[in-house]
Amino acid sequence: MSAVTPGLVCGHHHLYSALARGMPAPPKVPTGFQEILEQIWWRLDVALDLDMIRWSAMLGALEALEQGTTAIVDHHESPTAIEGSLDAIAEACEEVGVRVVCAYGVTDRHGADGARRGLEENRRFLEAGGRGLVGIHAAFTCSDETLEAAAGLAEDLGAGVHIHVAEGSGDAGAPERIAPLAKDDWLLAHGVHLADDHGLPGTILHNPRSNLNNAVGYARPTRFENPVVLGTDGIGGNMVEEFRLAYVLHRSVDVTASPDTAWEWLENGWRLVPEARDDRVTWSYDPMDPWHLAFTPGVRPLEIEVGGEVVFADGRPTRVDPDEIRARAAEQAARLHARL
Ligand SMILES: [Zn+2]
Repeated sequence: MSAVTPGLVCGHHHLYSALARGMPAPPKVPTGFQEILEQIWWRLDVALDLDMIRWSAMLGALEALEQGTTAIVDHHESPTAIEGSLDAIAEACEEVGVRVVCAYGVTDRHGADGARRGLEENRRFLEAGGRGLVGIHAAFTCSDETLEAAAGLAEDLGAGVHIHVAEGSGDAGAPERIAPLAKDDWLLAHGVHLADDHGLPGTILHNPRSNLNNAVGYARPTRFENPVVLGTDGIGGNMVEEFRLAYVLHRSVDVTASPDTAWEWLENGWRLVPEARDDRVTWSYDPMDPWHLAFTPGVRPLEIEVGGEVVFADGRPTRVDPDEIRARAAEQAARLHARL
């Protein structure tokens, strides 16, 4: 019994977070989203170098492929290793055989020079023909000048923007500040604290597991007119599992909710990476139907074709050695954790 679907798309990922697992506990237990950023992610990202970025992307791409995800929309930050970071991610995904849309998250957290270098990394990568978007971390870590510069760069290059919006209550002022800049090709990650009638154009990237883990609340995406796409926000690349959680979270506030809604969010990923629709994933389960999958754990790919090439067969990737990737990623994780 098997069924075939197109390749799945993770609409919001942070491949650099693959090495975070098992990191030392922060100095004190974070008591809110801002402290989670300050004590975990902003200590981790500043410690990244290009070797760590490469092997975290290799591991993240491998883990996505192993779950039938053939395309990743990534959002990256590594303040002390900015230049070349998007190439390291793109090359790693290419080696594994997974499509990736890169973005460097511009921010003023490291001063005007940090913001300038982040913008320049987006420009350099996109002008060289890289597949990507202009990244912005979030309005609450950027000046108006930086937001305008990033939006202007995207406009100049004909690219969209990938930005976190109103993930926590501390960013509730974002809509007002980005409203004059946002366009239909902007990707707005989270939107938990957006008003129902926020009026922003763009696609909402819904990350239910991450939102639960950060205790920021439930985005209730059905209240928006915008298209909604599912992402993991860096917690792996298993989109069937993210669909299952998106469905049950939707159901938790509306007992009439159908898994068809969360399935539509999953399928909307093909709006972001249309080629993934031509990828072929043969699954261990039949039928790959939302009402079945919502209640069927453990479904896995048997074979995957990306761009006509078999990149996964007999439970293993064909282009790379998964044992080597896991071993090298573990070495880099140990280096990273020693710096924290
Ligand atoms: Zn994110």
